[in-house]
Amino acid sequence: MKRTKIKDILKKEEFDYKVNIKGWVRSFRNNQFIAVNDGSCMGNIQVVIGLDTDESLIKKINNGASVSVDGTVIASMGRGQKVEIKADSLTVLGECDPEKFPLQLKNRPSLEYLREIAHLRFRTNTFSAVFRVRHSVAYAIHKFFNDRGFVYLHTPIITASDAEGAGEMFRVTTLPFDNAPHNEDGTINFKEDFFGRATNLTVSGQLEAELGAMSFSEVYTFGPTFRAENSNTPRHLAEFWMIEPEVAFNDIFDNMDLAEDLLKYIINYSLENNREDLDFLATRLAEEEKQKPQNERSELGLIEKLEFVLNNKFERITYTEAIQILLDSPAYKKKKFQYDVSWGIDMQSEHERYLVEKHFKKPVIVTGYPKDIKAFYMRQNDDGKTVAAMDILAPGIGEIVGGSQREERLDRLMTRMEEMHIPADEMYWYLDTRRFGTVPHAGFGLGFERMVLFITGMTNIRDVIPFPRTPKNAEF
Ligand code: ATP
Ligand code: MN
Repeated sequence: MKRTKIKDILKKEEFDYKVNIKGWVRSFRNNQFIAVNDGSCMGNIQVVIGLDTDESLIKKINNGASVSVDGTVIASMGRGQKVEIKADSLTVLGECDPEKFPLQLKNRPSLEYLREIAHLRFRTNTFSAVFRVRHSVAYAIHKFFNDRGFVYLHTPIITASDAEGAGEMFRVTTLPFDNAPHNEDGTINFKEDFFGRATNLTVSGQLEAELGAMSFSEVYTFGPTFRAENSNTPRHLAEFWMIEPEVAFNDIFDNMDLAEDLLKYIINYSLENNREDLDFLATRLAEEEKQKPQNERSELGLIEKLEFVLNNKFERITYTEAIQILLDSPAYKKKKFQYDVSWGIDMQSEHERYLVEKHFKKPVIVTGYPKDIKAFYMRQNDDGKTVAAMDILAPGIGEIVGGSQREERLDRLMTRMEEMHIPADEMYWYLDTRRFGTVPHAGFGLGFERMVLFITGMTNIRDVIPFPRTPKNAEF
């Protein structure tokens, strides 16, 4: 018989029809009731086997074993479910030795432990919910852009330009480590390398996306990015996914609107399509919050937080205003910040979180950052000090989006590149956009995992990517 997904059986709530289901045993009670899950939804289906079932088969029905069941869907007598399956026959497809299986669900394994067995953690309720939501968020993002006529552009993963993130990139090479060819001055001769030059893994697809925007008007990238920064924080990965729209004719205000629309679209999509998973994650989060001291607990539950963000306009302030708010804050006056505050600083996570969590209590878009702490391509404002940058700060996360209106004026761009020691000759292809039919344009980067963190209420970024890569960790 053809397999039916458990989700469809639970959703239908009809009785008296034959099905086949396949999945993994989540629990087995009284030698009779098996909870089976196939990952199609949070819920398990209860399979009831006959009391006359063979002893040797019963021994194989352990937590983690995979089974195939033929049977009849019937109304359930037990509490907790409307329907169950009365088994006609059951086959154990793959056994699972309970003595050796590292995933014991009974005593609620910690997230830290589950990270060590990330190859098995999909089989827990928490992680199956998280990764179903992650899938949904990815789909929502493509749908958002597709419905608005954006072209999905795949930008390269291996790149020779290191203009953006010099020093924090992963080198890509086929040169031998023990016997690399050298130039006369002792440096490595990358002319001998695979691409005939030094190459790295990309830190952003933006520069190439800008090239696409100069033809399609609106493009976006959605791909992996790599940063060799040695920051072991709950919000940084060495390999993460980023969404980068780039839109010709948009200014910084259009850019803010687009980003706010995108975030709200994703939130709304998840609330409408992942409710069961989000409700589960909300309960999980509420339990976690209970462990915290009263004054550190968040005021809103997960669903309320998402609805609140959805229904309220993001606050929009300038960097200068943000600094003033921080300087005026009780936290600053009581010297609660670890890092000092003054105009010109690159705001630390503690400052960003003060603004969103304590002061505004909602997402904040900060614009007009000092040019010295931002990238060369951001459009210079008339004050000579700031650029048309925008960061979106989210409660519990900090920076979730970083973007800007781009400098479309060739002379200004080249002056800035010179000041920042960026080799203009190597970047001729980028500068050509400003030489041949330049237009005002703007874009941003949304960190995919940070978005998933926000939606799922998880607190460590390692728990929202299937196989996290962080310093000293590339297991699985
Ligand atoms: P941060 O200050 O948090 O390190 P950033 O300023 O380096 O961020 P951008 O270069 O603007 O970030 O990248 C755009 C977006 O990509 C960020 O807003 C964030 O959501 C995400 N992001 C950046 N670095 C990482 C990382 N190491 N791991 C996961 N997401 C990241
Ligand atoms: Mn960074």
